[in-house]
Amino acid sequence: MNSTLFRIQSLPFLLVSMILLLGINTQSYSNSDVNNKTKDRYITINGHLFSEMSSGIETIVDENSNKITQPTGIIGEVSIGMGVKKVHKIRFSRMQVTLEDGRKGWVDIQLVSPSGEKDAYLMNRVKLSELMAQPQKGNTAVLISDENKNIQFKRNTPLKVMEWKHEEGKNKNSLFQSGTWWAKVEIEDYSGWIENSKFRFKGQMFDTAIPMIWYPIRWINRLLGDGFWAGLFIIILLGVPMLIGYAIARFISTKIRFLPNFILYFIIILVGFLIYSNTFMSIYDASAFNRAGGISMTFYGIIVLIVAVATFFYIRKIIFETRCPDCKHWDGSVLDSSKLSETNITKTVTWRYYNGTEEKEVTHTTIEHWEDFCNCSNCGFCWKIRRIEKSEYKQ
Ligand SMILES: [Zn+2]
Repeated sequence: MNSTLFRIQSLPFLLVSMILLLGINTQSYSNSDVNNKTKDRYITINGHLFSEMSSGIETIVDENSNKITQPTGIIGEVSIGMGVKKVHKIRFSRMQVTLEDGRKGWVDIQLVSPSGEKDAYLMNRVKLSELMAQPQKGNTAVLISDENKNIQFKRNTPLKVMEWKHEEGKNKNSLFQSGTWWAKVEIEDYSGWIENSKFRFKGQMFDTAIPMIWYPIRWINRLLGDGFWAGLFIIILLGVPMLIGYAIARFISTKIRFLPNFILYFIIILVGFLIYSNTFMSIYDASAFNRAGGISMTFYGIIVLIVAVATFFYIRKIIFETRCPDCKHWDGSVLDSSKLSETNITKTVTWRYYNGTEEKEVTHTTIEHWEDFCNCSNCGFCWKIRRIEKSEYKQ
């Protein structure tokens, strides 16, 4: 086995062990992540206790035959003043708590009095002028002067929540929970009201996120500064599912030797996409791709797809070049290549402008058909692989 091949084969294992190592870090990180110091925390608004971290909506009929719309999974009520013994987890809009009467369940985040500590951080950059004097849309900003009007708070700036207020939405009857939750926050030396969508508590993640993946990704992001480099590193990590698929297929191929290459190839795709579908939200939620608005989600989706397809082609090449179709050992390599044919296509596009000028754009496309000669160092079998190479340049 030559050294290049060895490197390629050990890559998945290296990456997987790296992820696992980061996963171990998960535990210590998560313990300190949710603010467990619930001394004197209590329920501030009457509300429901739920069995699940998220729920749908159901319509029930009360004793007076009125139809009432309410969330599903209500297991009890909580009332003002009730003590909160412990906060276990924070998911998208609810907290898992143990109440002083011993009941355990999920309540909406805003029902629990703030911890009094800096246990939240900004999701995005926020301008000082976005801190409102009152919890209302279109309200005036907190007093800003000429000196501080350009102040901005960076993403991840820690903040302290002091108070919650709910602003009713205009469309009261059609939506179940309309309106906005505002929080009075203390951030650096300022305080004012911001919408709850602008920040998150430590450890607060999407309902569908998998903590094993979420924590390491979040950790990498913070380590690399939550920007371009963190994003780039995560793009590289996105190749891991396919490499895990490759590692599994390779392992299977040594046990069940007769399996043809295309079956192994199928196993890789299957494992890869299963992992992608299960981890998509976890990675998105914890990473630098997570910005307010839908465009970034689409962008992230496209990136995942590109990386998946690229890794998939890369692995396909490794399989067909190195796994001998005859003895099924991974001892093949490309000995020689020859060009079978070359086709040149020239396309001219003429752009005509309103002012009468013209511009010509000539595109040259070269399509090359190649044949690679592979040889197995185990049994001496020779085989050929055909591939197409396309290159393009504009003039
Ligand atoms: Zn062979």
